[in-house]
Amino acid sequence: MPASASRSRESLASGLSRVLGDKVVSEVQILKLYSRDASTESGVLPVSLVFAESVEDVRAALRFALDNGLKLIAVGSSTSLAGNSVPKAEDTLILSMERMSKILEISEIDWVARVQPGIRVDELNYELARHGLQWPVDPASSKSATVGGVIADGGGGTKGAKYGSSPYWISALEVVTGTGDVLRLGCRTVKCREGYDLLHLFIGSEGTLGIVTEATLRLAPLPEAFVGVMAEFDGMGQLVSSVVEARRRRLWLMVTEFLDSETSEALGLKGKYHLWAGTDVNAGSEEGVLSKLSGAVTDAGGRIVAVARNMADFMTAMAPRRALYSGGLNVGFNMYGTDALVFWEDIAVPISELPAAVEELLKLGKDFGIKLLLGGHIGDGNLHPGLLVRRNAPEDEVKRYMSLIEKIGELAIRHGGTVSAEHGIGVQKKGLISMKYRSAGSEAALEAMRSVKRIFDPHNVLNPGKVLP
Ligand SMILES: Cc1cc2nc3c(=O)[nH]c(=O)nc-3n(C[C@H](O)[C@H](O)[C@H](O)COP(=O)(O)OP(=O)(O)OC[C@H]3O[C@@H](n4cnc5c(N)ncnc54)[C@H](O)[C@@H]3O)c2cc1C
Repeated sequence: MPASASRSRESLASGLSRVLGDKVVSEVQILKLYSRDASTESGVLPVSLVFAESVEDVRAALRFALDNGLKLIAVGSSTSLAGNSVPKAEDTLILSMERMSKILEISEIDWVARVQPGIRVDELNYELARHGLQWPVDPASSKSATVGGVIADGGGGTKGAKYGSSPYWISALEVVTGTGDVLRLGCRTVKCREGYDLLHLFIGSEGTLGIVTEATLRLAPLPEAFVGVMAEFDGMGQLVSSVVEARRRRLWLMVTEFLDSETSEALGLKGKYHLWAGTDVNAGSEEGVLSKLSGAVTDAGGRIVAVARNMADFMTAMAPRRALYSGGLNVGFNMYGTDALVFWEDIAVPISELPAAVEELLKLGKDFGIKLLLGGHIGDGNLHPGLLVRRNAPEDEVKRYMSLIEKIGELAIRHGGTVSAEHGIGVQKKGLISMKYRSAGSEAALEAMRSVKRIFDPHNVLNPGKVLP
């Protein structure tokens, strides 16, 4: 396979344009936008960018990459938080899926939607709401994240405490593998057994095995009614207790999102720990559920600051939580000015382990002398510790960051949890999954994954250097 080293960016772009016309962009200023994602990971300048409009475009771009010794990364909105969509290899071609954003079908009886991968999660849900339906995977980045990106990252979101994360909510996929083959996997039916479950190999594979060109998504009806509260607490321990207490009272909460005191303050919320907890209910049972929920909050030492009796009001009250990312950056800017970076972790522990895990986590931050922000989803055991770090930190400080990241991973594993709940592995969590499999005495699992990669992408053309340590 010819390497592109001797070929200029211009000649590659013009070769690509001959195949894909004006869907190719080669302006350096635009390419720069595709050299990173929302994580702290930095990447290289891609050689070119293609806006795919069909499965044929995807296959043509892949064929061009294979023939010219290029690498190919499919991207949605590049909101990933672990370096998942950052080009690290020289000679990378970016394949943007943004223009493949059609809803192909919504079935009000089967409760499925067939979509192209570039549609944004919110846009899909606005349309589904007109049919009384929802795709209940709701990343806090739902305004920009694409369905294809969520599928490829195996993402979750704010409704995870009841609905779990995306793998359950995808029932079929069309993918183009690294050999150019088109696979149609999964079923439209509720139940499906068709040999090995290849569908779930592609979900969460971060574009390293194949490119999703169409998805059939499972849907849920919009709730008949919804109740929720916004509560504040003086301490993180109390907030965690209220979530545990709700479970003890058999309240199956749909949303349980939180912010620590510093991030709350940075977002204008008066310096307390904040929790948004709410759930779908049958019409008529609103007051009973609200009183159970309020009891769980107040018995844990919290105060109710607002009550919502429908999902729209609740989601409006929860807007500050969706701004966790920028709130964290604001705290960082106040500390380190524009040198600040926030490295978002993504661990999860069983809910029964949350009280001990959170206490140890906060102590770890203090022991290492590194500011740790805390926020995210808590009712599904998922925590996003945000390490405030400096871009130009001296070497010994960087070593401390790295060591803290490892300790946080160890903590999650020790409590029976995982080092990556929903953001995926990308570049930044490769060391952590290595640790996870090592500690489970299961390194053969990583070898099996390398074999899977060789089957679907034998030329290592798709998003190389990601996921596999
Ligand atoms: C403010 C903020 C809040 C967030 N909140 C959440 C949250 O609550 N829950 C959560 O899970 N994540 C969250 N994230 C992370 C991120 O938004 C999700 O991982 C999201 O799924 C990424 O979607 P995207 O379209 O930006 O994908 P991208 O970042 O563009 O891509 C993600 C990965 O998928 C691959 N990919 C993209 N499209 C395709 C395709 N069609 N076929 C194959 N591979 C493809 C890419 O190569 C990459 O590996 C948050 C991020 C931010 C910035």
